[in-house]
Amino acid sequence: MLQRSLKHSRLTLLVLLFILLVCGFLATSLASYYASHDAIRNSIIYTELPLTSDTVYSEIQKDLIRPVLISSMMSRDTFVRDWVIGGEKDVGQLTRYLLEVQEHYGAFTSFFISEKTRTYYQAKGVLKQVSEDEPRDAWYFRVRDMQTPYEINFDPDMANQDRLTFFINYQVLDYSGNFIGATGVGLTVDEVVKLIDQYQLKYERSVYFVDTNGKLMLTGAQGGPFGARAGQMLQDIDGLNDLMDKLPKPQSGSFEYREHDNGHYLNVRYIPELDWYLFVDKHDRSALAGIRQSLYLNLLICLLITAVVLTLVGLMLRRHQRHIEALATTDVLTDLPNRRGFNLLAAQALQESQRERSPLSALMIDIDHFKALNDTHGHLAGDQVLKGFASELRDSLRKSDILCRWGGEEFVVLLKGTDSQAAYALAEKLRMQTTTSRYPFAGKELRIEISIGVAEQRADDSLHNLLMRADHAMYRAKQSGRNQVCVEPKGI
Ligand code: GH3
Ligand code: MG
Ligand code: MG
Repeated sequence: MLQRSLKHSRLTLLVLLFILLVCGFLATSLASYYASHDAIRNSIIYTELPLTSDTVYSEIQKDLIRPVLISSMMSRDTFVRDWVIGGEKDVGQLTRYLLEVQEHYGAFTSFFISEKTRTYYQAKGVLKQVSEDEPRDAWYFRVRDMQTPYEINFDPDMANQDRLTFFINYQVLDYSGNFIGATGVGLTVDEVVKLIDQYQLKYERSVYFVDTNGKLMLTGAQGGPFGARAGQMLQDIDGLNDLMDKLPKPQSGSFEYREHDNGHYLNVRYIPELDWYLFVDKHDRSALAGIRQSLYLNLLICLLITAVVLTLVGLMLRRHQRHIEALATTDVLTDLPNRRGFNLLAAQALQESQRERSPLSALMIDIDHFKALNDTHGHLAGDQVLKGFASELRDSLRKSDILCRWGGEEFVVLLKGTDSQAAYALAEKLRMQTTTSRYPFAGKELRIEISIGVAEQRADDSLHNLLMRADHAMYRAKQSGRNQVCVEPKGI
């Protein structure tokens, strides 16, 4: 009963401790995970991606402003204007001029198209005649009719080997302000592509340009998101199909979206010079992998700590429980089992002897005139005698015998495999031994005598019956003058 309730409360305590530790560890681990997650997310959205966007944008501007200035200078150049007005006589003169511009400013190409002759001049000479019927020449007529003095055009495939080129197309006017042609330079975007590659490789983010229709315009050398090439539409790229629809209008600012199972952080910036959007995109897998790993490590450590704490507490509780159990079944003064301890051991012994049909005898021992000893020498003297007597009793018995302090100055002994005759002999030996024993207290040698009742177990005897019969025999011993052993006849 006591054991079961102790075990139950130990289990309850361990379960409660487990829940408490797990909840505490989970709460702190998850709180710190989400705090780091938010910090990383905010740093990506509000710092990293806008910074990348700013840098790429300023690089683009640098790449663009230079050709715009060169083209502007060419459009105002008096040589060019005089040469055209003079009737475009010496082609070599203009060709040399265009070559000089191209080489000196590191342009990819330089050109002049005359409105009068519709001739397309470039550094190598005359390229062709432009015609209104040719779709590839449409740009020239657009430039001719536009209200602004120049336009920036981006052409990925017009020049050699598909190299991506910015064209700055400037109107050339004569001194009276009449349109006489278009001039300008074309520059590759190698620097921008290099920068994009650097960001893509080093910082694991995708950098690409998309036009207002969702067409991929410019990517790093290895391609854009998921290896997509310039010219592809975003809605055709697996994973980004509905990205454009998801983005709010106008498409500038920071956004988050999911592509399959990956979360993405996206910074979109409108570039008015090109009428394009610059996309800087980072997926959270790489960004959050580190803190996710430390979360798992954290949880593992917490689990280990929980296991160690629970094991230690469990062991301590078990030890404590055993201690309490021992206390509950042991008599503090004599260190012998008390009645509770005796009952546990005796019930088992009784069953065994009944099953094995071996004899079992009980001794009921009572110290004679113990009250008088207490009265004469004091209670402490009585305690000392009880301790000494108990220890002698234990030493005189076999290990298998069951001994208990029944209460006060009474002791019970169960002798396994012993009939009443042998039990009587042992009881007599104990009695004799006691008469000769001396118990020192406060300089005095105290002595006692004992009366013993012996009873042998009958086939149908319960423990209670057996002890009652032993007690009866002991009572007879008292009645007969004490310091005696009386045996309860088995047959009665
Ligand atoms: P009898 O020969 O008839 O057994 O006489 P008795 O005096 O031994 O019996 P009684 O039952 O009258 O008295 C028992 C005494 O034992 C009374 C009680 O104070 C004493 N006693 C019981 N337990 C303890 C104990 O733990 N320590 C001490 N010092 N005395 C105890
Ligand atoms: Mg008594
Ligand atoms: Mg007594």
